[in-house]
Amino acid sequence: MDDVYRYIDENRERFIAELESFLRIPSVATDAKAVEACSTKLKSALETAGFKARLMKSSGNPMVYGELAGNAGAPRILLYGHYDVMPADDAHRWKSPPFEPTHRDGRIYARGVGDNKAQHYAHIKAVEALRACGKTTAPLKIVLEGEEETGSESLPGFILENRELLAAEVCYAADGPRHDSNRPTIYLGCRGVMGFELRVRTASRDVHSGNRGNVVPNAAWRLLQVLSSMRAPDGRVLIEGFHDDVRAMNEEDGRLLGVLGYDGEKMSRELAVPDLKTMPAREFHERVMYRPTLTISGLDSGYTGEGIKNIVPATASAKVDIRLVVDQTPAKMMALVRSHLKRHGFDDVEVVEYDSMKPSRTNAANNFVRPIVDACRAAAGQEPVVLPALGGSIPQYAFVEGLGVPCIWSAYANWDEHNHAPDENMVVELYIQAIKMSANVFHALGRT
Ligand SMILES: [Zn+2]
Repeated sequence: MDDVYRYIDENRERFIAELESFLRIPSVATDAKAVEACSTKLKSALETAGFKARLMKSSGNPMVYGELAGNAGAPRILLYGHYDVMPADDAHRWKSPPFEPTHRDGRIYARGVGDNKAQHYAHIKAVEALRACGKTTAPLKIVLEGEEETGSESLPGFILENRELLAAEVCYAADGPRHDSNRPTIYLGCRGVMGFELRVRTASRDVHSGNRGNVVPNAAWRLLQVLSSMRAPDGRVLIEGFHDDVRAMNEEDGRLLGVLGYDGEKMSRELAVPDLKTMPAREFHERVMYRPTLTISGLDSGYTGEGIKNIVPATASAKVDIRLVVDQTPAKMMALVRSHLKRHGFDDVEVVEYDSMKPSRTNAANNFVRPIVDACRAAAGQEPVVLPALGGSIPQYAFVEGLGVPCIWSAYANWDEHNHAPDENMVVELYIQAIKMSANVFHALGRT
């Protein structure tokens, strides 16, 4: 593969410039014009690299689809990524404008660079490099969706409607940040996620806290009681049945967890959370990968402006999310939340459900894991970290359930890529390394 790696090195400036032209398109899922521009441009990028490509309709934003014949006897790899990006409505908190890619300290700063444009673009450039050097590759299919950041709503339906077209032996996708050691990182699944809002109304309007305090009930206190009924001060979730469907860890899970490192010092300093310094590595990873969470992500009630306003608020609401682990499902969890409210006498609480995504984990003993880990190690010259699951949520279940195909993911972005936050960035060297890893994975599986 040395000639392929050399080709990638020799073309690095062009590969960076091409990526930057994608980063300038503000392809937030709700921006129809940018979505069209980005998907059309991606389709031609696939064609230039040698794919047969087209835009396909979905119930939402178009899917960019491409196929490359490759070695017919080899396992077919289905690649996945997303060209939509998180909104950057916090542009004033960025050091440089989010949609003007800017280089600082060996990194490219731009919204969507790590999540996910550089990661799937690495696949495309890997194919270009393999073909330019006359190397074989496994047959490839690639799906790039345009609404991952809003919950991949159309993806499951699209997969089910195109089962034949998308049929493959393994799904390989690149997304997410690396392990915080910054070594190449491979992961085999993810937690799921569901969001909902709890709303309380205790009166027709806010009232004067002097004239009506102690008489008119306070929505903020009511909501706090609802929330504290759900979680003990030590962090245990008190929703009845919350942990019932959590799949027990097997031996291979334990082995993978056992070799994972954790830099508590660094994490503690970075986030200013003293407790993270002394947390044992295994505990840290188990919490993030194998246990569900109940998170209050936002609270709203009464007056929150400057100074004080003496009122009894009539309404209060909390945004809540739950991260699910296999074999929990959003539907069952929602039912548990509702019956908890009922059992505890909180019948007045209105529940508004938002999007959800199921959890999914590929068995660590699957046959494709080893060759993919080997190929990434060889291309990167570093031992990969293999994570049984990602703490975040990706639509893996749609592939696993829809196509019956194992999914193996590679995280190509640096651990501190700041995805979903100001100053999202990707280390340039890791982008180049990502192209090499993709190339070696496609080539290695193409020889079997
Ligand atoms: Zn994201």
